[in-house]
Amino acid sequence: MSALLDLDLDRPGMHHGALRVAHSDDRSAYGEIVIPVAALVGGRGPTVLLSAGIHGDEAEGPLALIRLIHALDPASVAGTIIVSPMMNHPAVKASRRTSPLDSGNLARMFPGDARGTVTQRIAAAIATLLLPRVEAVLDIHGGGRTLEYIPCAWGRLNPEPELARRTLAALMALGQERTVVVSATAHGGTLTSESIAQGKLIAGTEIGGAGGVRPDTVAAAERAARRFLAHLGLLPAEAPMPTRLMRLRPAHFVRAPGRGLFDPAFTLGDTVRAGDAAGTLHDADRPWRAGETLRFQSDGLVVARGVPAMVEPGDVVAHLAEDTDEAALLA
Ligand SMILES: [Zn+2]
Repeated sequence: MSALLDLDLDRPGMHHGALRVAHSDDRSAYGEIVIPVAALVGGRGPTVLLSAGIHGDEAEGPLALIRLIHALDPASVAGTIIVSPMMNHPAVKASRRTSPLDSGNLARMFPGDARGTVTQRIAAAIATLLLPRVEAVLDIHGGGRTLEYIPCAWGRLNPEPELARRTLAALMALGQERTVVVSATAHGGTLTSESIAQGKLIAGTEIGGAGGVRPDTVAAAERAARRFLAHLGLLPAEAPMPTRLMRLRPAHFVRAPGRGLFDPAFTLGDTVRAGDAAGTLHDADRPWRAGETLRFQSDGLVVARGVPAMVEPGDVVAHLAEDTDEAALLA
């Protein structure tokens, strides 16, 4: 057995266990990657997965889910909650986006490969041992070391119309001021794409980043998780909170055209117009040269900024989202 889920999902109560993935190396011949997973088995109701730590440098989600494990009483849960706060456990322990073992980005590996690299095998274990057991998934992300997001509910709509409608309703219930829907051209290999392929409802977030957590960003992630559970009936209903529906297109990204030091002209949360200056890129070796002005290509709200001032070609220095409505998203 190259992977197994060591977790009691049959008896009521709080259970601690692990997703165990074989990892034989120089340090441990019969070693394992031991990914902590908790289960809160309550009364009758759906089974859902709360996921965080797919990227190891995004601690908002892991901390929010650890708070929930300590706070929730399984006896008051209508259903079963599987909580996996540190999906790419080696990456979380290293505070890195990708795994220190194979440089694997778990958000590009699904559906995984049970005979592949260790991160491919973690993806395969999640896809075969966790996902088939649940009806719905919340996957919490943030900006990590290199990006900073204003808190957003974040998702991609399932191509199947009824699941698309349910997904949008779940995203809008997460208690975030903005709900961003990404077009279908988003990266493949994500937990979202795999969940959609398996016919599951999946919602997510992009919250915070800039290399660390703050009380408000962890609270936003915790609110998303609690309200996701309430929306699906596992916890008592919560009063609706307004959210601004937005969409994300490739034209919303401002990327560095070359290497240099980027001097931003915007602040996270600014509203900008197409043609507005995003900032100036300076030649780090010949700083006396005139800088190059980088411009926004679209109207929108700045929902993310690149954190490092020293940029390489292709790095995102900012990205926008633009207003839309339910009818346009579900058309
Ligand atoms: Zn992420």
